[in-house]
Parts: sequence; structure tokens; C-alpha cells
Amino acid sequence: MPQNPDKIQDHVELFHQPEYKQLFQNKKEFENGHSPEEIERVAEWTKGWEYREKNFAREALTINPAKGCQPLGAIFAAVGFEGTLPFVQGSQGCVAYFRTHLTRHYKEPFSGVSSSMTEDAAVFGGMQNMIDGLANSYQLYKPKMIAVCTTCMAEVIGDDLQAFINNAKDAGSVPKNFPVPYAHTPSFVGSHITGYDNMMKGILSNLTAGQKKATSNGKINFIPGFDTYVGNNREIKRIAGLFGFDYTILADNSDYLDSPNTGEFDMYPGGTKLEDAADSINAKATVFLQAHSTVKTREYIEKEWKQEVVVSRPWGIKATDEFLMKLSELSGKPIPEELEIERGRAVDAMTDSHAWIHGKRFAIYGEPDLVYSVVGFMLEMGAEPVHILVHNSNDVFEKELQALLDSSPFGQGATIWGGKDLWHMRSLLFTEPVDLLIGNSYGKYLWRDCKVPLVRIGYPIMDRHHLHRYSTIGYQGVINLLNWIVNTIFEEIDRNTNIPSKTDISYDLIR
Ligand code: SF4
Repeated sequence: MPQNPDKIQDHVELFHQPEYKQLFQNKKEFENGHSPEEIERVAEWTKGWEYREKNFAREALTINPAKGCQPLGAIFAAVGFEGTLPFVQGSQGCVAYFRTHLTRHYKEPFSGVSSSMTEDAAVFGGMQNMIDGLANSYQLYKPKMIAVCTTCMAEVIGDDLQAFINNAKDAGSVPKNFPVPYAHTPSFVGSHITGYDNMMKGILSNLTAGQKKATSNGKINFIPGFDTYVGNNREIKRIAGLFGFDYTILADNSDYLDSPNTGEFDMYPGGTKLEDAADSINAKATVFLQAHSTVKTREYIEKEWKQEVVVSRPWGIKATDEFLMKLSELSGKPIPEELEIERGRAVDAMTDSHAWIHGKRFAIYGEPDLVYSVVGFMLEMGAEPVHILVHNSNDVFEKELQALLDSSPFGQGATIWGGKDLWHMRSLLFTEPVDLLIGNSYGKYLWRDCKVPLVRIGYPIMDRHHLHRYSTIGYQGVINLLNWIVNTIFEEIDRNTNIPSKTDISYDLIR
């Protein structure tokens, strides 16, 4: 069905045209679909406790997972480094998914290549794909580093990346001293945060090999973790600038994922120079801004780099206070007055917002560190978590989160649902309703189904623009979070009070 070139329509309008309506009707008849009454009856049944019990008895099926796969996190980790091309040993379709997923969130091109393994590689192994792929990537795209990870296919057949890369170097695909760090990232275990961790460890161990010096360079390293808010890297840089200490972000992907439009395409705007990354082994300390997406990297740095390692997630007032005090201790410099003033502004914004958030029952889903940080902030505001769903959970995380819940009078009614998906969340929301849902864009279907207002925080956010550009950490992050949360509550109130002489008794202009 051709578009009318004089009036190109967005899909929202296009599919309401008569020819599409007819097409959908024909499809339904062809598929012998159920009657609207039957669909309605079953839909209603799925909202009750009986269905919830069946849903939670599910073992071998995931519906709407709240996690991504390992290589997605690995290529995300790689692009913060200068001149770095992510290279995925595996099938083309997987890599197309990672690239589009990231592009839809950031509205930026995401450059990553695959070795395009097909049936022959699945049978005989993917070594020739690696040899050809590295040679082509090096010649065509002229990177300074190629960071290799895998998809499930390469892992199932047992491709040995270290051996393959050595063989590719022997075959002359890339120069012998060209950095090709790698990480095995099988997606049938772990999630995108595991892939991030594996790749970060792989890159840092490659670049810092043989670089340890007798004296410290006096810098502080920051490792953000799988943090998708580019504003957070910029906030770290701003805070470090206010303090006036030297630092290295491992790795700064803010300009890659939010690049300026100058009219010229820059394929590699990764902000961390390879020489700075190599020298990070000589820093005074490394501060991790997430815990659960950096487990192996942290173990590696603690053991091999012999420097102080700190985990600090500065979301909310208390955690930001602790973060800044730690930076003051590490740098030997006082907390800048400007940040103290910002703190006052953040506390004022919390006070202004308090009446709207205090006592609100909420559900949340997402990655462990994000969920931990948002729950901590909401407890500061007196909100009451009810359903906390973390698909890629584990015992260590759940113990840590439970301790946070136990520390607050507002955390007593929460249940942690580890290893569950968004179809489980649907049952929870119907049987035990809440005032607010916090999560990524996939919560849109829960919003529509369960009529619970959705605050979009997390990754991916594909149906709202620009949110990734803001910071969620530090005192400025407090104000941004309040903005998203309180204004979602206001929109919901407006939606429920907008029918003249029916629901508009208190249609309120002043809040
Ligand atoms: S789960 Fe495995 S097969 Fe699926 S997209 Fe991820 S890497 Fe590819």
C-alpha cells in the first residue's frame, strides 16, 4: 500500500487508513481469532490471584524480560575509550539488535561490527571469520583499538578468543602490538551488566599490562558501571573540576552517546585516551559508581592494581554526601562551597515535593544498581516500595537491598522479586496495586494495562526524548529525579480531574 507522497504519514495515522483496517480484519479472520468477548473474558481472568499463582509457578518460560544480553553491555563498555571499535564474534542479527537498541535509546549512530558467522562457522568454528574480520575492520575503519566480545553462537561452539586473536595477529590481520582486548560474553548466563563487567575487565587488563610504576600518578579513577545517563559522566567531570583534582573516567562515553552535530561524522568520539587508561593502574584510588555491574573488574583492580577501591552510588542526598566526603578524603581537598549551595537547593526541592511523594506506594524494576539507588532515594522521600523486581538479581544484591529496606520505616512493606520478568510484574500490579511504577519504556504496556502511572527511569527509554542527557547523581540529580517523579504524579492527577463538572471539582492550577 503506497504512501501518498503529498502527505507522508507517521505509522500512528497510517495504520488507521481504511486499507490497513481491512488488512487487519482479514488477518484476524485468516488466523481464526477468538471473539472479542472471549478475549475480554480471558484478559479479566489474567488479572486475578488465581492466574497470578499460575504465572509465578512458571519455570521454563520468560515473558518480557527486564534485562538485556551480555554483548550489549560489552560494546557499551568499549565505546567510551578513544578510537575503539567494538567487534562481536558471532552472528550478524545479534549485533544488529544491540546497535538498534542503543541507537533507539540515544538517537545516535552506534558503530560496532560483527564477524558475521553463519552455518559454516557454526560447524567448523569461527577462526577464519576472526582473521578476516579483524583485517577488514582495521583496514576499513582505522581504529586505535578493537574490543572483541562474543554472541551465544560463538560460545556454544567454543571459540577461543585469545587463541583466535593470536592467530589473526600471526596472519597479519592487525599489527602485533595493536590492542585487541576481549571478553567472552555468553548470553545464556548473566545479562548486559555481566557483559559490561567482563569487557571492562578485559580492556583494562589489556591496556595496563606492564604499566605499573613505583609511584602513584595521584589521580582518582571513576568507573561508572552500566550507567546509561550521559549526564552522569558530565556531572563527575564537573564535580572533579570544582574540587580541582586529576581524574580518569574509565570510560567516558558521554560524547559517543550524545555527540555534537558539527556536520561531520566522527566514528570514535570515545572520551578516554588509551594512554590515560593505561596509566590508570598507577592512580591513587578507583571509585566505582555501581557495585553489581563491576564485580569482576573490582576484584581484578583490588588484586592487581594495589590501590584503594571504593563503591559509591551518589543518588539522593545521603549517598551524595557520603560520595563527596569520600572524594574530599581521597583528594585531600575540601568540599567546594558551590556544591554545598547545590545541596541546599536539592533539599529545598525535596521539601517542595515531599507532600506529593511521601506515603506513595510504588513498584520498580530494572538493573540491581539502578533499583538500589532509586529505592534509596525514594525512601529518603518517604515513599513506600511494594514490588521490587530485578530480573538479573542474585543473593548478594538481595541481601544488600534488604538491609537498605530494613533501615527505613518506609521499607517494611516491600517484597524483592528476584529473577522475575515484566509479565510477573503485571500480575503483581493487578493483584496488589500501587500508586506509581518506575522503570524503562517497556513499562508502557503495564501503564496501559494496569493504569498505573509510569515514571521513566532506566534503560532503555525509547518513547521519550532526551532523558538520557540529564544526570541522576549528585545534588543536581536529586532535582532531575524529583522533576520526573513529581510531574508524573501531577499528570496523573490532571488526567483524573479533567472532565468539566464531573471530575474537575479540584482541577488545580497551583501546586
Ligand atoms: S541472547 Fe545470544 S543469540 Fe540472542 S541476541 Fe543475545 S547474543 Fe544473540
